[in-house]
Amino acid sequence: MNNSNIVQLKGIAASRGIAFGKIAFLRRNALPTKKRYIEDTQAELERFNQARASAITQLGDLYESSLEKLGEQNAVLFQIHQLMLDDPEYIQNISDLIVNEHANAEYAVFTTATKFKEMFLAMDNDYMQGRATDVIDVSRRVVEIMLSKDGNLKSHSIQASGNEDIILATDDLAPSETVQLDKNKVTGIITTQGSTRSHTVIFAKTMGMPSVIQIGSSLNESLEGKFVIVDGGAGLVLIEPDDATIKIYQERKRNEDALMAHLEQFRGKKTVTASGREIKLYANIGAVSDIDLVTASDAEGIGLFRSEYIYLNSKDYPDEQSQFDIYKSVLEEMHNKVVIIRTLDIGADKTADYFMLKHEDNPAMGLRAVRLCLTRSHIFKTQLRALYRASAFGNLHIMFPMITSIDEVMACKKYCQEVQDELKAEGIAFNPKVPLGIMVETPAAALISDELAPLVDFFSIGSNDLTQFTLAIDRQNAELNSFMQPYHNSVKKLIAMTIKNAHAYGKWVGICGELGADEHFTKTLIELDIDEISVVPSSILMMRAKISTLG
Ligand code: PEP
Ligand code: MG
Repeated sequence: MNNSNIVQLKGIAASRGIAFGKIAFLRRNALPTKKRYIEDTQAELERFNQARASAITQLGDLYESSLEKLGEQNAVLFQIHQLMLDDPEYIQNISDLIVNEHANAEYAVFTTATKFKEMFLAMDNDYMQGRATDVIDVSRRVVEIMLSKDGNLKSHSIQASGNEDIILATDDLAPSETVQLDKNKVTGIITTQGSTRSHTVIFAKTMGMPSVIQIGSSLNESLEGKFVIVDGGAGLVLIEPDDATIKIYQERKRNEDALMAHLEQFRGKKTVTASGREIKLYANIGAVSDIDLVTASDAEGIGLFRSEYIYLNSKDYPDEQSQFDIYKSVLEEMHNKVVIIRTLDIGADKTADYFMLKHEDNPAMGLRAVRLCLTRSHIFKTQLRALYRASAFGNLHIMFPMITSIDEVMACKKYCQEVQDELKAEGIAFNPKVPLGIMVETPAAALISDELAPLVDFFSIGSNDLTQFTLAIDRQNAELNSFMQPYHNSVKKLIAMTIKNAHAYGKWVGICGELGADEHFTKTLIELDIDEISVVPSSILMMRAKISTLG
């Protein structure tokens, strides 16, 4: 695409889009947070509390001003920041340092923030780890207020000349810094560090700010002022490109901008077909941290949370409490929107050593998913207890994978009942009406969907496995790609049969396999009367736009 002599920096593609501009490094003024001896500790406490109160007010203003830029679900981060500043443990820690050690408030705030940051980072929970950046961000704000007489000290500056477009370069950006960037001046963000899961990246995406992160030390101050192209989708920064390359990227930018502007019209809207039929458009996720992507994507719920990733990211069986914490945080983050959590689908291509699964010649058809759960019921019951306990905190739906028979469904329901009886006896709150569904991802389930429909509340078609088992083509084997026919009539017939049978019993049907995200198949799904489609977060707006043209 571009001249090979052009120096390119490679990083992680964080927010798509193309931007042109001169590199300007963000300069953070070092805040004086050294320890000083304070005689009047009461006055110092008062100083801290006043700054804390001002910071809470500022964050309220930031919430209001971000609503339009980021939408309610993203802007809510600044309300979470307000709550952090009201956290009794945080305040106590700071107060203790001031009172017991006669420390100055700046030192007390930063020492506490660092302690909390370490604590968050050490947690075995992606979502809580993400709070590490937040606690530093809010604490920095409090310190800035204490240090500035007018409450308006700028802790950072960007040195840029004239009205040129800027590509902001830095090690990492705080969420509040990102949202306050002047989009008329800053056209892209490039960072040496950063995480794709950070709020900063979510915000950059929502604001349509092309970003490349984790470039490393090759992004250094010797590049200050150099003209670059940022290709956020490819994770590339092109240094001083030639005219021909600039032209190519200008053309690409025009096309991308037009597409993005078109898709943005669908944000915040319902998903409806041309004839006005509403379809539920949900997102597939594998980790709690993906919630932020779901929020940024404008999905209407979660159609598939692959809970096995909790097990895959664990060195031993995750216990009930740690699973409960994860499910609860997902449900709370989703604010009563539907969250379909699929029970453990380990086995086949997804294995963890501690399960000590025996070697199998045919693992995709082996001891996996619900078969493993029904064979090792203690693992299953631990997960179900965590799920039911979490059900008190949102709109949980539970879904069982790899179902092939009525007996399996009945066995799953029996365990659900047992768990509910236990929780009731223990006086633990739960929702006794959690909708229970199954994945229809085996031809057997599709063929007896008329018998399964009365037993459950919903179906979700797992087209990845359904296609693999119907066509007898291993989905993992790339050598079989030429034989794979994703739109094979057999699969289509099984989907049609499933939807018809479910509707006959008044049950709804979704699809969470990749076929659901395949725009070439959307028309067929709408014609077959699908009720819900669940896709990766990045495809939500594209799919909503597509559906609006169909049916
Ligand atoms: C499927 O099989 O279509 C599905 C969604 O499940 P997974 O891809 O996790 O097997
Ligand atoms: Mg599957």
